[in-house]
Amino acid sequence: MDYNKQYDYLIVGSGLFGAVFAHEAHKLGKKCLVIDKRNHSGGNIYCENIEGINVHRYGAHIFHTNDKTIWDYVNSFVEFNRYINSPVAIYKDELFNLPFNMNTFYQLWKVKTPAEAKEKIQEEIGNLNLENPSNLEEQALSLVGKDIYEKLIKGYTEKQWGRSATELPSFIINRLPVRFTYDNNYFSDKYQGIPIGGYNKLTEGLLKDIEVRLEVNYFDNREEWDAMADQVIFTGKIDEYYNYEFGQLEYRSLKFEDEIKDTDNFQGNAVVNYTERDIPYTRIIEHKHFEFGTQPKTVITKEYPLEWTSEKEPYYPINDKKNTEVFKKYQALAQQETGVIFGGRLAEYRYYDMHQIIGSALKKASDHFSVIEKPVEQ
Ligand SMILES: Cc1cc2nc3c(=O)[nH]c(=O)nc-3n(C[C@H](O)[C@H](O)[C@H](O)COP(=O)(O)OP(=O)(O)OC[C@H]3O[C@@H](n4cnc5c(N)ncnc54)[C@H](O)[C@@H]3O)c2cc1C
Repeated sequence: MDYNKQYDYLIVGSGLFGAVFAHEAHKLGKKCLVIDKRNHSGGNIYCENIEGINVHRYGAHIFHTNDKTIWDYVNSFVEFNRYINSPVAIYKDELFNLPFNMNTFYQLWKVKTPAEAKEKIQEEIGNLNLENPSNLEEQALSLVGKDIYEKLIKGYTEKQWGRSATELPSFIINRLPVRFTYDNNYFSDKYQGIPIGGYNKLTEGLLKDIEVRLEVNYFDNREEWDAMADQVIFTGKIDEYYNYEFGQLEYRSLKFEDEIKDTDNFQGNAVVNYTERDIPYTRIIEHKHFEFGTQPKTVITKEYPLEWTSEKEPYYPINDKKNTEVFKKYQALAQQETGVIFGGRLAEYRYYDMHQIIGSALKKASDHFSVIEKPVEQ
């Protein structure tokens, strides 16, 4: 350690990546400072308490993983409940279960057995003659046929991407999971749930006894921040770190509109997707159902996909050819840095689920500490 420096680690960003890295460093006795430009810690998993309900401020977050080590890790900070994500979709006056399973097939075609459902799907696909799909519409049709595509995929996807499905590349949909059992569990992972008391409990556990300064933007004073610590962990936007010298990386954004309803139960489910093109939002989240809430009122959030501009929140990276090439140039610069570790969804320009972010932060921390903590050979 350079004894002129006040901290071993400056961690830019208090989201899951930053918080896990900080926790691991703190456990080894390292002195950490975490900074975040927002007025709260936790990044996109932050929950805001409204009417006693944990509102997922940056979109519905459901924790799921197949990895027992990661499940045990999160449960060591907060206990998780038994929430299972079983969204429903509304298309015009019809309601369907998701993901596509025997319940959905019964609702679509009144078929009751897997054999009947398979035959119906094959019949739909076979009639289309789409051997080399050239866009998303053709790709989806070739995988699930016309009924599922038109009622449950087309409008939702077009709203999400702000473009017609015939203008979208086919690679966006590689596969569409179709399940021939009566199983509405959206995820197939072994472990799933929501932290009891909300995600802030997880963040608080990770950042316990670590200094956190909020509402400070690293770029407002980067030389001063860098001078404070031996090593920087950077979880912000990688293009911004390099002053956009190869151009801006593009994203899709979202707008969230909350409403407090004077009823104890508005829609009977946490997640309801609206798959019609003409309804501008993609889904309504009723947050209390994530925690089986019994509050007298309820809070719902309508989620609207938005074109991204630099002043809006960057939610989903657009990993197309153009952006991938730009990202690779930034990544090449990042790989040459010695005093900075880049991690998290913004620095790696990649969509990651929470368990993947935790896995990646634990791996980067363990690789880093196994090198610097290695005993000197005699
Ligand atoms: C709408 C939506 C729904 C999702 N749903 C799920 C789900 O159901 N299940 C699941 O597993 N995952 C889900 N995810 C993914 C999950 O949000 C991420 O895996 C996780 O939050 C990423 O953590 P992070 O630390 O990489 O980034 P973030 O949470 O974005 O944290 C980065 C932090 O860095 C701060 N920062 C950035 N730049 C600066 C700067 N210059 N100075 C100071 N601070 C800075 C930001 O303010 C932010 O707090 C969802 C994501 C989205 C967008």
